[in-house]
Formats: sequence, structure tokens, C-alpha cells
Amino acid sequence: MSNKLVAGNWKLNGSLAENKVLLDGLQSPDGVEVAVCVPYPYLAQAGLLLKGIALGAQDVSEYDRGAYTGEVSASMLAEFGCHYVIVGHSERRALFAESDAAIGRKAAAALSGRLVPIVCIGETLDEREAGQVMAVVGRQLAAVLDVLGVEAMGQVVLAYEPVWAIGTGRSASADQVAEVHGLIRAWLRDQGVAADGVRILYGGSVKPGNAAELFALADVDGGLIGGASLVAEDFMSICRAA
Ligand code: 13P
Repeated sequence: MSNKLVAGNWKLNGSLAENKVLLDGLQSPDGVEVAVCVPYPYLAQAGLLLKGIALGAQDVSEYDRGAYTGEVSASMLAEFGCHYVIVGHSERRALFAESDAAIGRKAAAALSGRLVPIVCIGETLDEREAGQVMAVVGRQLAAVLDVLGVEAMGQVVLAYEPVWAIGTGRSASADQVAEVHGLIRAWLRDQGVAADGVRILYGGSVKPGNAAELFALADVDGGLIGGASLVAEDFMSICRAA
């Protein structure tokens, strides 16, 4: 397995002035890969200011070009120096009605544009309480595998983000994370995917105080960080814990 990856997801936050302060405060600790996924209008600014940190976006169109008002293609993101793009974040699934199948097509579009998709999966609290965690996560993964096929599935980054842990301050426990990450890797292996090479990130209320414990778990290959990635000191402390 390669280095751990810690990616910040800024979501709908930032301004030119705020970004400058934040980006100037970032650097990659030795042996850890750091990325920031910024809103589209700030890609150029972040590309100029980042040193030794990968650039990413938060969504990508399933289409490459044409009459699709408001869409942004993988090849456009690549032109701005993006290496990663988040696909299928639970906020996009829930608030913008993105289907499992559309998320599979977006992951394929990202790979065709030479970007690495960070594909987000995870259950709601109701689903967890109903004992449906792997049913939901397996369904989300299967939709992506259906579009990509076994070989390309080995090239994505996965982010397990239980919906109930996102932005709530309530991270999943180390036992919960360890269990689901292990099941995800086993699921990939069962499908014939080269599972040991797939980075599986955890996301959901990762903070400086819980990052080291989560990143130490066997099948946790890094993190996807929301709120805490907006404060340079907190984000750097999380990156150093990886
Ligand atoms: P928080 O770290 O704010 O809980 O957000 C997690 C997330 O959604 C990252 O994509």
C-alpha cells in the first residue's frame, strides 16, 4: 500500500482572501500525501499557491463536452492541475439526487480524464440501526463496479463516510470504522478487484484529537476531512497523525 492520503473537502466554503491564508499555511508532512478539494472557481488560485500538495475538485460531470449547462468535465479539471475529484459525496446523493448509477458514470468519466475519483460511500443512521450497513455500502460499490469493471475499480480511492458522522462532531468509533473498512476490502477482494492496492479513507468528524487512533487502524489508508480542513493548524495536525 502506498502512503496514507489525507484530503480536505472544503465543500461550499472559502473566498479568495480566506483561501490565501489557509493555503499558505499548508505543507505536506514527510511520508503523507495531502490533497485539497476546493470549489471550482478557486482551482486556479489553489493550483498557484499549493506546494507539494495535490489539487482536487468536489464533483465532475459524467459528460466530456456538449450542451450540459452548468457541468464541468474531467478534462477541464485536469487542465487546472487536478489530480483527484470527489464523486458521490453523501451531500450530492441526498441534496442533489445523484443516483448510484450516475455516480458510477462520474467515476468512469474521471478515470477517462486521467483523474483519480475519490468515491464516497456510507450509510445513514436509520440504515445502520436497521443492520443495513453492508447492504447499502455493497449496493453503492456494486453500482460503481458495474460501470468501471474490475480492473478500473482497482484505481479508485474509496471514502467510507457514514452520513450520521458527517459534520455532527460524532465520529464513528474505531471499532465501527475498523469493521466496515475490513468488510469493504473483503467485498472488493470477493469481486476480483486488486483490493490491497485500493486506498480506503475514512471521513466523518475527523479532528486533531481522533485522527491518530483512526489512521492507525489496519484498513484505514487516510482520511477525507470536512470542517477541520478549513483551519490550517487543525488540518496539518490531522495530516501529521497519518
Ligand atoms: P466533516 O469532517 O465536517 O464531518 O465532513 C466530512 C466530510 O463530509 C468529508 O467529505
